[in-house]
Amino acid sequence: MIEKRLQKRLRKATILVICICTVFLICGGLFSSYLARTREEFLREQVIAETEEYKNRILKQLEADFQTLSTLSVFLNSEYISDAELLAEHLRQTQEYNEYITIAYYNTDGKGVIASRGRDILTGAGLSDLSPEGADSIEKALNGESCVSRLFESQISGNRVFVYSVPVYENGKIIGALAASDHIEIFSDILSGNTVFGGGGYIHLIDSEGDFLVRSSNSVVKDNVPSIFEGPYLSGESRSNVEDALENQKRIFSSFSYNGRDYPFLLEPIGLNNWYLFCVNTGDSLNARTDISTHMAQLMAAAIVLLVIFLMLYGYRLMRNYNKELLYLAYHDALTGAENMSRFRQKLIETLKTGRGSVAAFTIRQFPFLTEIFGKEKSDQLLRQIREIADRHITAEEFFCRDAEDRFYLFFKDTEKNIIRRRLEAFISEIEKTTIFNRTDYQLAIYCGVTISSDSADPEAEAENMLTHIHFALNKAKGGHSSTIWFFDTELHKQEELENYIESHMHSALENGEFKMFLQPKKDLRSGSLNGAEALVRWQTESGKMIFPDQFIPLFESNGFCTSLDLYMVEQACRQIRTWLNGGMEPVPISVNQSKLLFFEGDYVHKLTAILTKYQVPAHFIILEILEGLALENLDELNEKISQLQKLGFRISLDDFGSGYSSLNILGNLKIDEVKLDRDFLMNAADQNQNRVRLIMEEIVHIAGRLGISTLAEGVETPNDEQFIRSIGCDTGQGYLYSRPLSAEDFDEKYMKHMV
Ligand code: C2E
Ligand code: MG
Ligand code: MG
Repeated sequence: MIEKRLQKRLRKATILVICICTVFLICGGLFSSYLARTREEFLREQVIAETEEYKNRILKQLEADFQTLSTLSVFLNSEYISDAELLAEHLRQTQEYNEYITIAYYNTDGKGVIASRGRDILTGAGLSDLSPEGADSIEKALNGESCVSRLFESQISGNRVFVYSVPVYENGKIIGALAASDHIEIFSDILSGNTVFGGGGYIHLIDSEGDFLVRSSNSVVKDNVPSIFEGPYLSGESRSNVEDALENQKRIFSSFSYNGRDYPFLLEPIGLNNWYLFCVNTGDSLNARTDISTHMAQLMAAAIVLLVIFLMLYGYRLMRNYNKELLYLAYHDALTGAENMSRFRQKLIETLKTGRGSVAAFTIRQFPFLTEIFGKEKSDQLLRQIREIADRHITAEEFFCRDAEDRFYLFFKDTEKNIIRRRLEAFISEIEKTTIFNRTDYQLAIYCGVTISSDSADPEAEAENMLTHIHFALNKAKGGHSSTIWFFDTELHKQEELENYIESHMHSALENGEFKMFLQPKKDLRSGSLNGAEALVRWQTESGKMIFPDQFIPLFESNGFCTSLDLYMVEQACRQIRTWLNGGMEPVPISVNQSKLLFFEGDYVHKLTAILTKYQVPAHFIILEILEGLALENLDELNEKISQLQKLGFRISLDDFGSGYSSLNILGNLKIDEVKLDRDFLMNAADQNQNRVRLIMEEIVHIAGRLGISTLAEGVETPNDEQFIRSIGCDTGQGYLYSRPLSAEDFDEKYMKHMV
């Protein structure tokens, strides 16, 4: 029971621990993913902001280049333009100062001067001397549009270049176009600095085909690829997203993988020439701090979760240990360390499920006195020693417990009385030899009750039965001066049980009318007619069980209850006679058994007459059966009582004559009306060899006849019995030959109805 409760509590605690841990883990996970998301968002914002910055710087650079070119264009006037040499010199100087690869001026008629680094100045050049991109750009400028060309391979330098062009005005009129080409590397400073994303990233400049315009030297991809689409790095969905973004000039975040690691990147359109910034965040340093703080936060969250889990597990362990301790306390006796009764009962039930065995309970004679004489410490020591002895005397499958005070229980696998007795004797003798009380003359005695299991199908009920029965056995064992072993006796116990039932229920049974009057007919042996009936009590319990007088009359005689019962039976007899009288029948006298106690009660006569008066029944209808034992004590008083009753009209019958120490003297000394020869006589007389018995009976009948006492033979069972008693002159017969005792109704039906 306790174990179940504790297990339930532990299960609850386990579930709680699991729940709390799960909640913590979920919270930790959510927190961590929130951190990761926030970090991601933060990073994206950061990347966008920084990229925007670079984009602006690039645009500004372009603007500045335009500005420079526009400023140069202002200084070009017709003076320069008309003098090709001067123009050429001017352009060469300009190129030198500005580090353009090529600088060219074209008139509106398509003729111009080209100054290229490391080359001779070409005067009188036509548009066809320029690359198509350069020519296209000049044409646009001649049309008043400042522009920057697409990137192309310079025929002059062999580098990838692009061209800026601005119109040249004089007096508000376009007189020509100034163009300059430059390497794309002019952006390198901007893009390949180690400060990109705080050193934790890099930026490529790419065109709409994905080809690198400026490839950062910090690129994680070390292969020298011309395009972002080259190699296996950008694939699947990422690749198609990039292609789509390049086509539609969109900003996207995506990632590529390199050496088994994912690198997020931002593709940001510059808004010029379909150029894009391809910004990769390597996460190495730019976000190192963010990473560290994020990781720190995650670590802290994980540490908290782990700490909580640890605390919970620790608490759980503590509780488990505590439960174990509780369990130990619940199932053990603190004084001796032996198991206690709860545990013993559990084990007994478990064992009885698979087999049989016996339980012995024992106590120590006069244990409280032992404690008083030798002190508590010594008596405790004795109990501990008994525990040790018990330990030695049981096998692995057996067990024992200390219940309370000096009461111990042992379970043996044995079911043979002799074996059990031998084992217990050995066990008890070891206890008796204990030297705890150093007075050698003090003799310890052990009272021991034993019960052996039956083949019950219900081990729980069997265990309870055994533990109940063992007390009856133990009680029987108690009392003597030496050690006693008493085995529970089922038959004896049934008897005791019945006695207990009788004593505890007799009063209510009398009140509830559970005592029934049965009537046994008496037959006149001369006329063969019914000449009376004997009232015999039967106890019909509430449950319908019938208890016979032999089982309770002796008990009632010793506890005095028979005085009430006998009067009750007299009343029942009177009531019956009254019923017959009222029914117009001639009643037969009813003999009622009267116990010694009642007979000598002071107001006995008075009580009898009161009943007669109550039912208006003449006394001669009642025969009072007394036992010969009455005559053994005070004969004069008895005769006095008899004559008093006879005067009132009662008749007195001496019951069971010959069963005890009867003597013929009694017949002479007692003034009785009838003698009932005990059925033992007839039983013995039935044996033809017992001629002496027959002679005695004959003599009794003869003497009684001469004394004016009528004779009745009890226990007439056979026609031979009847023939014999008739032959010896007996007046009346009673026995099964005529009828067994019948219920009043059956008697009525069988013998009285026809008399109406
Ligand atoms: P008892 O007064 O000698 O009653 C006769 C007993 O012998 C009855 O037993 C009856 O059933 C039994 N008996 C009758 N004919 C035969 C027979 O042919 N063969 C054998 N073997 N037995 C026969 P019962 O009714 O069990 O009563 C037993 C005893 O209990 C009575 O012996 C009587 O002493 C006592 N008793 C019965 N009722 C009362 C009562 O109301 N008050 C008192 N004080 N004692 C009673
Ligand atoms: Mg009788
Ligand atoms: Mg009798």
